[in-house]
Amino acid sequence: MERFVQIFVQEKHWEGCGGLVLDDEVRVTISGQAGLLVLGLPHEFYENVQSVLVYPSAIVTPERNTGTFEIPQGPMVSGIPILGEAQLHGPIILVWDSVKRNARHPEEGHNVVYHEFAHKLDMLDGVADGTPFVGGRQAMDRWTQVCQAEFLDLRKRAEKGQPTYLDKYGATNEAEFFAVATEYFFDKPKEMKAHEPDLYEVLRDFYQQDPSTREPVRKGR
Ligand SMILES: [Zn+2]
Repeated sequence: MERFVQIFVQEKHWEGCGGLVLDDEVRVTISGQAGLLVLGLPHEFYENVQSVLVYPSAIVTPERNTGTFEIPQGPMVSGIPILGEAQLHGPIILVWDSVKRNARHPEEGHNVVYHEFAHKLDMLDGVADGTPFVGGRQAMDRWTQVCQAEFLDLRKRAEKGQPTYLDKYGATNEAEFFAVATEYFFDKPKEMKAHEPDLYEVLRDFYQQDPSTREPVRKGR
């Protein structure tokens, strides 16, 4: 992991935005969490991550249009505060306030770093559709079967205003479902395994690791 962090910090373009001073704490915290996702995967899985932009707190951007050939250098969403973003052919954007808070409170099941880097893993095959490269035909069939059922169930419950296990944001679309499920998988693995065993299993097979067997790391106080 130490090696991963070293390489990741050097290899990617890092930028402090909105007055954020980008120091080692920022780089190492983000790289460490990004690295956890790919512990069992080849390092190349992040070849589509070129830059990481970090803002101090929630970003609200003015309305603007991106030119057809312009590579976006800032958040795409206008007018509403965002805590993070992963662009298909663009940077990962993170908000340091949220990164720190999420790291201190894994029990909340929210982690913007896991979330945005999961999007990038999903996008590696060229589309953000909630299905990353899961391997052979059999694994793919199982993935589709489990995720589709869970996604539709979450969407149905969210629409009816019923309580849901995963955050309702995961009902937005399949890509958000995968990113939200990834947050729970790494933040609350034991609970997720008990609650959503099938979903836990396909994520375990994709990520090639079983976080439920690790002892939770206590961070902060
Ligand atoms: Zn998302």
